[in-house]
Amino acid sequence: LTVSVTGATGFIGKRLVQRLHADKHSVRVLTRSRSKAQLIFPVKEFPGIVIAEERDWKDCIQGSNAVVNLAGLPISTRWSPEVKKEIKQSRIKVTSKVVDLINSSPEGVRPAILVSATAVGYYGSSETQVFDERSPSGKDYLAEVCREWEATALKVNKDVRLALIRIGVVLGKDGGALAKMIPLFMMFAGGPLGSGQQWFSWIHLDDIVNLIYEALTNPSYKGVINGTAPNPVRLAEMCEQLGNAMGRPSWLPVPDFALKAVLGEGASVVLDGQRVLPTRAKELGFQFKYPQVKDAIKTILS
Ligand code: NDP
Repeated sequence: LTVSVTGATGFIGKRLVQRLHADKHSVRVLTRSRSKAQLIFPVKEFPGIVIAEERDWKDCIQGSNAVVNLAGLPISTRWSPEVKKEIKQSRIKVTSKVVDLINSSPEGVRPAILVSATAVGYYGSSETQVFDERSPSGKDYLAEVCREWEATALKVNKDVRLALIRIGVVLGKDGGALAKMIPLFMMFAGGPLGSGQQWFSWIHLDDIVNLIYEALTNPSYKGVINGTAPNPVRLAEMCEQLGNAMGRPSWLPVPDFALKAVLGEGASVVLDGQRVLPTRAKELGFQFKYPQVKDAIKTILS
């Protein structure tokens, strides 16, 4: 395949590009910054990779078989009214541009597949409900962001196969939520964050990359697909497993105020969780490499 990827320089994108490149697909990195992308994907390691800034996105998208859309301002950025606006606008802007470029591509060079990211924040938060792809959307800000983000992707031409991946909290080495949680955890000798009762719908980085890869290559992957592991855990358990893996006790709760001091309102991503099940992925026969958080954390920290 020839695949154009936005957000390719990010935590998930980097790993996806490595995987696509290793499997001999042609990759076009759609970025805001060529120099940044060149450092991440040096020509020596990634011969043949195309790196394009926004004015060249059109040429890249035309002639690609597929587009993966992952770009957006990180939501763990400390929230101010401006940041909040940018969290939404950055996603809508890039998605809208990608969709317009696909829709306006002449037939013959129009990509046939769009895999676009969204998040489990779509469902809102609850300590008691269980959500899957058929569940309605929530009422909070992140739910609104996800709805508009998805609605923008849904404007792609009907003859393009669209997979919307509602991604959970991605756990991996060197980045993502875990990298942010570990220092806090060390500071407070480990322990649940907030009440600890909140649900934490996580997925290992390898599994989300595999799921996106499947969505690119398997025509059955269509519509909304939750990108979460089959066994979400309460945050207290997640912290206990993290504590065990780090050889630290997990009994002092990390207070809400400490989290909020580090993450601002963005702490709500961790403090208000949701229990999300990957019903579609299971129906599609997707094999999770890491179904249990204990094994995921162990491999990440080893
Ligand atoms: P990252 O934050 O690591 O990377 C996102 C990429 O988006 C960056 O590399 C950057 O690419 C681009 N970007 C950053 N800011 C902006 C901006 N203001 N406007 C336009 N583009 C911007 O994201 P992840 O890899 O962690 O996640 C990928 C997608 O999946 C994101 O949209 C995220 O919301 C979603 N997701 C991720 C989860 C996770 O746990 N990681 C959980 C749920 C959803 P460049 O500089 O090259 O343009």
